[in-house]
Amino acid sequence: MSARILDGKSIAAEIRREVQIEVAAITAQTGMVPCLAAILVGNDPASATYVQKKAKACKDAGITSVRIDLPADLPEASLLHEIERLNSDPTVHAILVQLPLPPHISERRVLGAILPEKDVDGFHPSNLGGLLVGNPLFVASTPLGILELLNRTNVVIEGKHAVIVGWSVVVGKPTAFLLLQHHATVTICHIKTRDLAYHTRQADILVVAAGKPGLVTGPMVKDGAVVIDVGVNRLADGRVVGDVDFPEVAQKASLITPVPGGVGPMTVAMLLKNTVDACRRLCGVIRPSGDAPVPSDKRTMAQP
Ligand code: NAP
Repeated sequence: MSARILDGKSIAAEIRREVQIEVAAITAQTGMVPCLAAILVGNDPASATYVQKKAKACKDAGITSVRIDLPADLPEASLLHEIERLNSDPTVHAILVQLPLPPHISERRVLGAILPEKDVDGFHPSNLGGLLVGNPLFVASTPLGILELLNRTNVVIEGKHAVIVGWSVVVGKPTAFLLLQHHATVTICHIKTRDLAYHTRQADILVVAAGKPGLVTGPMVKDGAVVIDVGVNRLADGRVVGDVDFPEVAQKASLITPVPGGVGPMTVAMLLKNTVDACRRLCGVIRPSGDAPVPSDKRTMAQP
């Protein structure tokens, strides 16, 4: 079998066009322009590039973006103060703190300080917990992008066995819960998993987010599996590759994401979508379709 490519780039472009239309509608209705504030602490070049990409995507969609550059030796209290300022600024609808933070700053405290209603990265404990009970305000953009990729290519999730390699708070865990919410049977693998290949071979949908180039090879994949490669690894020769041995696995899979051009563009597109949802919610604008801004679960817990 030779896999069909799951073209994240073109699906993301479609989503970005939809976002652009939504932004124009919100502005026409309320006079508000959705605004994302991105905080960058220090001068890590990769982080700076990510923030730049997000700012460019915002601009293309008609979203205002504000970039706040802070020095690497900034005391944690000053960063928390900056977040507090953005939390209470009514012209800012969405806040993201680019990770990683310098080691003297607690990511947990910083992410927990963002108002959940503006937490478009979905890392606030109440949004992570909301995912567990099925009603988060926001889900992290990468897992949301993976779900959207599957949905827009008509991959049936219900009843499938999804195997997730990696259990980070950023990718692995929220992806597992999203797929579970859509009635996949989910296996989560991590560094202590015994016989990783045994588990990956069971997967109808295999999501690999380990940050290890070449971790998943052809013999580790079932014929016809859908393979989502989240990894982004820069090799010594400058090439960027995923966690999956693409040439080998493409011979086994039915659908596969390339790296680059798979999950990465979807992450940016879903951040824009989350920003628009934040603006809608904060400005009290109803979505035209009337659907929920984030995937919901029929079995959500009752709200007090
Ligand atoms: P992370 O925090 O380093 O987590 C990696 C996870 O992989 C950990 O849970 C780790 O398990 C697990 N792992 C590592 N080696 C393993 C192995 N040999 N077998 C089984 N599990 C293994 O990284 P992350 O933030 O989740 O990101 C993962 C990758 O995705 C990175 O390459 C990152 O650059 C990329 N990424 C891409 C996007 C995008 O938009 N395309 C977005 C976010 C991240 P333990 O915790 O048990 O050690």
